[in-house]
Amino acid sequence: MECHVCGSDASREALVEGARVFLCPRCLHYGKPIERERKPVVTSRHRPERPARELNVVDGYGKKIQAARDKRGQTRQQLARELFIRENELERLEHEWMRPDVKLAQKLEKALQIQLIEDVSRKAKSDESEEQSATLKPRKRSKADLTLADIIDVKVNE
Ligand SMILES: [Zn+2]
Repeated sequence: MECHVCGSDASREALVEGARVFLCPRCLHYGKPIERERKPVVTSRHRPERPARELNVVDGYGKKIQAARDKRGQTRQQLARELFIRENELERLEHEWMRPDVKLAQKLEKALQIQLIEDVSRKAKSDESEEQSATLKPRKRSKADLTLADIIDVKVNE
């Protein structure tokens, strides 16, 4: 395309006195540049990622194990044998010198009927929603929600 004004290479289309003409960059100021139609930006479709189930061994697992074992009247040796683990391994677990992996924790859960694993991903989610509802509460509060004490307060202030 040639520039409508000077005849050199035109790069932009512009409106000059209402007419669409091509102008080179130097002559562009004679007209009103027509914005090129923007192509809709194709964004890669965001795939909602399902949070991976994150299992975590609960804090205080050692005491839980020990308490459950005591309740059953088992010695460490007996429970260790039942779980097919070494006695000193169980000892380390009870003292929390060693954190069990999920597999071992599940074994302990099953044997002792206790909960040692928490789903961290789900917990984080519920914590978040709790926080949200907590922050929404004050905003929702309307006159209808006022307690008697509040109403008395309002009247005194008026
Ligand atoms: Zn020109």
